[in-house]
Amino acid sequence: MHDTLGFIDEGEIVRVLAAPASKHAVEVRAVLAKARGLAGLGMEDVATLAAVSDPELLGEIFHTARAVKDQIYGPRLVLFAPLYVSNLCANDCTYCAFRARNKAVKRRALSQDEIRREVEILVDQGHKRILLVAGESYPHQGFQYVLDSIATIYSVKRGKGEIRRVNANVAPLTIDEFRALKASGIGTYQLFQETYHHATYQSVHLAGKKKDYDWRVSAMDRAMEAGIDDVGIGILFGLADWRFEILALMQHVRHLEARFGVGPHTISVPRLEPAIGSDIASSPPHAVSDVDFRKIVAILRLAVPYTGIIMSTRETPNIRRETFALGVSQISAGSRTNPGGYAEAEANPAQSSQFQLGDHRDLDEVVRDVAAMGYVPSFCTGCYRLGRTGHDFMDLAKPGAIKLHCDPNALSTFTEYLEDYAGPETRKVGEALVGSTLDNMDARQKEISEALVRKVKGGKRDVFV
Ligand code: SAM
Ligand code: SF4
Repeated sequence: MHDTLGFIDEGEIVRVLAAPASKHAVEVRAVLAKARGLAGLGMEDVATLAAVSDPELLGEIFHTARAVKDQIYGPRLVLFAPLYVSNLCANDCTYCAFRARNKAVKRRALSQDEIRREVEILVDQGHKRILLVAGESYPHQGFQYVLDSIATIYSVKRGKGEIRRVNANVAPLTIDEFRALKASGIGTYQLFQETYHHATYQSVHLAGKKKDYDWRVSAMDRAMEAGIDDVGIGILFGLADWRFEILALMQHVRHLEARFGVGPHTISVPRLEPAIGSDIASSPPHAVSDVDFRKIVAILRLAVPYTGIIMSTRETPNIRRETFALGVSQISAGSRTNPGGYAEAEANPAQSSQFQLGDHRDLDEVVRDVAAMGYVPSFCTGCYRLGRTGHDFMDLAKPGAIKLHCDPNALSTFTEYLEDYAGPETRKVGEALVGSTLDNMDARQKEISEALVRKVKGGKRDVFV
């Protein structure tokens, strides 16, 4: 089956999966050698890695993913917070608590004042990046509500902090709406296909606009046509066979690269979590085990080495710790998935939350944990604000030159966090990490980084290269 644009070709996926994927060590190792060249992988290569179950070869996949992650991303881990502005929704996705027919959920669209309050709390925690999230139905202003919300988020200034990059995860838009979203100063437009498998897609989307597979799968084309360079795609794992899903995702990437000369900026890897009003969320038909989940992250890291991988607080602290090394480059922290969840500690947040969280720790605890593992928590928004998006970002990322920007910017924004927001224990761990990271840098990188860190310690904020 084809979507109307024709780039998700199920026939091709089924053929690739049906071909007896070689589990021979020689061929698996040949794919890993290719991956080390940082030029990405083809569908057959991905199928070969997906078929591996031998523990030794699996270990080699993980080892290679770690090396690739390290080479491109260094020790950085970018942090953000989701901001759920509304849980109104006209769709009926069987896996989501916000589905229209779920009467157990309290419906709410935050007012601009309430959004301001939420943002003040996030800024006071030290966040610099927000992912705006909403259901697919807006208050009387319609889509303008989202644009107003973005303007509100950017308008908040608190002490030494503010939100410097707003990304958005909202339903597919028309080209004109995407143009307006771009004009609002959006960073990445994010949208998950949920499942690329047509029949499964139809069976889990029962009502509303989201039933239309083609409208959704073509959203990134419209976003890019409208000038949004950075788009984030994703799969909701658990709905269909993960091997099928990642091959289809490769087709999506290939299509965007062929049409726009640049692939997605990020890939998200949510796994289905229990949600009230949903049976399927508690017993996913194609549940992904923890080992397979790590395998997925590692394979994606090797297949599309320059694309960021995002992991949310759906996952537990342990899974998060294990997958950082394999390729995750961005994580959310201290999240609430109910509108108003930061300002109001509800007695029972499940009544308006989208799904259950696996990681309940606050930002400071996550920062401390990540830093203690040797990763530099980064709040950097430099690339986007210097216009290094789309092609320009990829051109910069590809020769590894990103290290001369990202690593110094990570250290300067981390130092801002340590100076302005960290608790005493986090500050201690963090300062030691800044010191050892500087010591491990080459001379040029160190010089640039030290200059930035000095400026921050001297009271300057928002400095980047
Ligand atoms: N309403 C818009 C949409 O559906 O694209 C955007 C926001 S929706 C709240 C964000 C994402 O949450 C969905 O794309 C889906 O992948 C994810 N999600 C929904 N239910 C979930 C569940 N039970 N567990 C984990 N993720 C879930
Ligand atoms: Fe609505 Fe999005 Fe939830 Fe579907 S996933 S019910 S569209 S909020």
